[in-house]
Amino acid sequence: MDLKDKGLLVVISAPAGCGKDTVIAELKKADDNVKQSISMTTRAPREGEADGVDYYFTTVENFENNISQDGFLEYVKYGVNYYGTPKKAIEENINEGKSVILKIEVEGAGNVRKIYPDAISVFIMPPSFSELSRRLRNRGTETEDDIERRLKIAETEMQRAKEYDYIVINDDLTACVNDVLSIIKAERLKYSNMKNIVEKIINN
Ligand code: 5GP
Repeated sequence: MDLKDKGLLVVISAPAGCGKDTVIAELKKADDNVKQSISMTTRAPREGEADGVDYYFTTVENFENNISQDGFLEYVKYGVNYYGTPKKAIEENINEGKSVILKIEVEGAGNVRKIYPDAISVFIMPPSFSELSRRLRNRGTETEDDIERRLKIAETEMQRAKEYDYIVINDDLTACVNDVLSIIKAERLKYSNMKNIVEKIINN
């Protein structure tokens, strides 16, 4: 008997410096059922980033074509660049019962919740503002102006944590990953996600 049911859409947001990339990489390692949506963007690749892995890097013209063809679940202009979540792969994965992670900023997260009220949303926070500031400075890759700018954005984003279903503090990586895995596991076991399975069991 095939007990496969529909998957979950999991929105994860976090200010820069909260370690969300590492957390998501660990989630994928820990659970084969967890897939990450690859966004499309018009920003240039950073060193070490690969097309089709980190993002689909594209031109403004191609991005705008995709908008007019209704190819995105959501998209935003963040700074000077477009970022969008392609619809097709998400629908395919969800229909296969996978949990699909969208790593998107707060505006896009709000849009996803409107379009897809069943999506679950997780906001990852640093243990404190001073720790976030320390982590950003420790990277040593940005100027003091950039760091100040990112901290201001982080503060505005953290004010919107209340819009999310779950808050996870990234103080210790393993604990943080386990918290998100527990959320995914519990959400999968909700009656609304299990009702087809319940029906199959009853009718067998
Ligand atoms: P970065 O340029 O640092 O990779 O990403 C900048 C911000 O855009 C991050 O907060 C990231 O999570 C967000 N982002 C990446 N892809 C998407 C997307 O498809 N939609 C939205 N709304 N935000 C995205």
